[in-house]
Amino acid sequence: MTITGRKMTLEISNNRRNEIKQMVCDTLVMYGTPSLPLKIGNLIRNIKYIKLITYSSQIKKHRIPYEEMILTAETKDSYAVRQGSTGKFCIYYNDIDKNIATSNRVRWNLAHELGHVILNHHEIAGTEKLYRRGLDDESYYYFEEEADYFAQLILVPHAALLGFRINSAKDIRTLCKISDPASKRRFYEFQIWKSHVNPEDEYDKRIFAYYYEFIFKKKCKICDAVIIQRRGKHCPICGFKNTLEWRDEDDMKYPLLRTHENQKLTECPKCKNEETEINGNYCQICGANLVNQCTNFACESRILPSNARYCPICGEKSIFFANGILSAWRQPSDAFLSIPDGFDEELPFN
Ligand SMILES: [Zn+2]
Ligand SMILES: [Zn+2]
Ligand SMILES: [Zn+2]
Ligand SMILES: [Zn+2]
Repeated sequence: MTITGRKMTLEISNNRRNEIKQMVCDTLVMYGTPSLPLKIGNLIRNIKYIKLITYSSQIKKHRIPYEEMILTAETKDSYAVRQGSTGKFCIYYNDIDKNIATSNRVRWNLAHELGHVILNHHEIAGTEKLYRRGLDDESYYYFEEEADYFAQLILVPHAALLGFRINSAKDIRTLCKISDPASKRRFYEFQIWKSHVNPEDEYDKRIFAYYYEFIFKKKCKICDAVIIQRRGKHCPICGFKNTLEWRDEDDMKYPLLRTHENQKLTECPKCKNEETEINGNYCQICGANLVNQCTNFACESRILPSNARYCPICGEKSIFFANGILSAWRQPSDAFLSIPDGFDEELPFN
């Protein structure tokens, strides 16, 4: 037990930390969408047994002044109430106070209350509401500690932040949408964590896998392709180098062809053979190569995405493009419309 100021806090044990980490992952996988900042409101709305209720709606409903609302709530921020043995919860949160609503503190408050619910605090304490005066100090502050730990894990997922340039507290604030004071503390902790990342850590691995597509989502400045690509500087669609920028977009203009898990096409585009789930890369009917690869034999790349016209690593053509399974990114009609350089000067008329 440590004494911090007047507050007493019981340290969360390492075992318990690991349990909380698992619950954070499970919550993300079940109810969240992998993007940053985490859409915490949407995530909670996806949980059918939790109802989100604003202070302003309560004030309207009970026709009471703001001050009275705060007195009844016993907190300016937020609180979670368990509804008897129904297994249902209500999370009430302050959407009126400008200091809370506009500082992103409201997002932390929501994540914190969600922590109380997911970590079963009401059940453990045997109460409907985690009142300060309803619990002994030790339990109260311990539950607070756990809920804050849950909030920091779910709002600031370290392994996902690795995919972005984080050089200051401000970067964390922008990417995770947390308050100024919170982002300072989180930046400090992120740096410590980053200085000895363990590549075998189960939790970090799960978080990284969860955010993988979000981290490596890119858009090409030249051909507008939206792709998921971790390695290589070439755009797999138009073949240009250094034209890819991270962008949170979902519109895949150049869809992937359907493949089995081993990246072999489910249907041969040449002869329409659908029995492709057999050993080997080639179509047993027409001999077409059904696994997209780089045409450059010296290239270190392995299998390419099924929509790749070019190899992201060396920029050479892919087998699918070279064999005419994929069309060029610039359609012939577009090419016809594009005006060659110097066309203006050749015009014989004024
Ligand atoms: Zn709390
Ligand atoms: Zn491109
Ligand atoms: Zn075939
Ligand atoms: Zn290559």
